Amino acid sequence: MSREIILNGIRSNETPTLGNYIGSILPVVKLQNNYIDKYQYNLFIPDILSFTTPVNHQDLYLNTIQNLKYYIAAGIDINYDNIFIYRQSYIPALSELAVIFCNFSSFGEMSRMIQFKEKSQGKEKETISVGLFTYPILMAADILLYGATYVPVGDDQRQHLEFTRDLAMRINNRFNADLFKVPYEWQDQIKFVGHQTGLRIKSLKNPDKKMSKSNFKNDPNGIILLSDKPEDAYKKIMTATTDSLGIIDYNPVNQPGITNLINILANLIDEPIEKVITIWKGKKNYNEFKTAVADEVRIFLENYQKTLNNIDESDLMRKIESSEYLLRDVATQNLYKIQQIIGLRP
Ligand code: ATP
Ligand code: MG
Repeated sequence: MSREIILNGIRSNETPTLGNYIGSILPVVKLQNNYIDKYQYNLFIPDILSFTTPVNHQDLYLNTIQNLKYYIAAGIDINYDNIFIYRQSYIPALSELAVIFCNFSSFGEMSRMIQFKEKSQGKEKETISVGLFTYPILMAADILLYGATYVPVGDDQRQHLEFTRDLAMRINNRFNADLFKVPYEWQDQIKFVGHQTGLRIKSLKNPDKKMSKSNFKNDPNGIILLSDKPEDAYKKIMTATTDSLGIIDYNPVNQPGITNLINILANLIDEPIEKVITIWKGKKNYNEFKTAVADEVRIFLENYQKTLNNIDESDLMRKIESSEYLLRDVATQNLYKIQQIIGLRP
């Protein structure tokens, strides 16, 4: 297990969105297809982090398995030994490390986390979970326990990745030891997945806001779930909010709706943004452009869902269990080294 590790996770609070696919799943599938031998792939569902915001607990377990299937349907191949597919709560050392990390993290830095501010905004203090507040700490444990250096996440997770780097360096310095591998910095993470800037797919109805699965009930027409009927997704693109400028351009500030659709199109047809811009820039027919995007989204979902429905669940369960068996061992050994250095073990 000496390959560098790529780590990627999706919460199981809801079905993943098109934003999760483009920002998180697709980059990992491309890495697998181009560099399978070079890296170890840790793909997991942070099931404990999935109820930092309220969920229906009756659905949690099934959603966890279901969301892992979205990786497989996207092209992740469970037959490779260096691909690990697992559930956070099945690796108890992760939770213990998170508790340890709490004591090396400050109330101040957690209070500055944008995701916490956004997700707790307008809520009664008594209803905001402490788990939401300490979310980045468990995320740091997910990354640092295995020494993952590549964490291809959407732009919304940038601050959490930066916190993880700070925490790793802080503990390494405090104990004068190379206890944790420090993940690469943000620009290198972006370059690694072949992007120039961080990716954040926006709500189709509120293109100044991220497309977030936890917001689905409030914004059903702005969010495309990967389980949406392809025809419904088509309609959501056709009714996406754009602008009144009447001329297509890639401009995140003045034309966030059109820009968002260009991002979606370029990623789904796997062409550079610049090429898609060259084709559409200056054109005036928004309807024609939307139709082109909506067609791609519909075709993409039809194929994706067909593959999803054909996944053999018993093969997947075998893969999950063998991954967890192997990773638990490594995790326990790594946790022991940490316990020793900080004085919990002789
Ligand atoms: P939630 O609202 O429940 O937090 P989410 O859509 O943010 O849902 P997560 O499970 O938190 O989903 O994130 C999984 C991965 O998907 C992360 O790497 C995150 O950066 C990425 N991601 C989420 N939303 C987007 C988006 N709109 N654009 C690009 N990447 C995204
Ligand atoms: Mg999120």
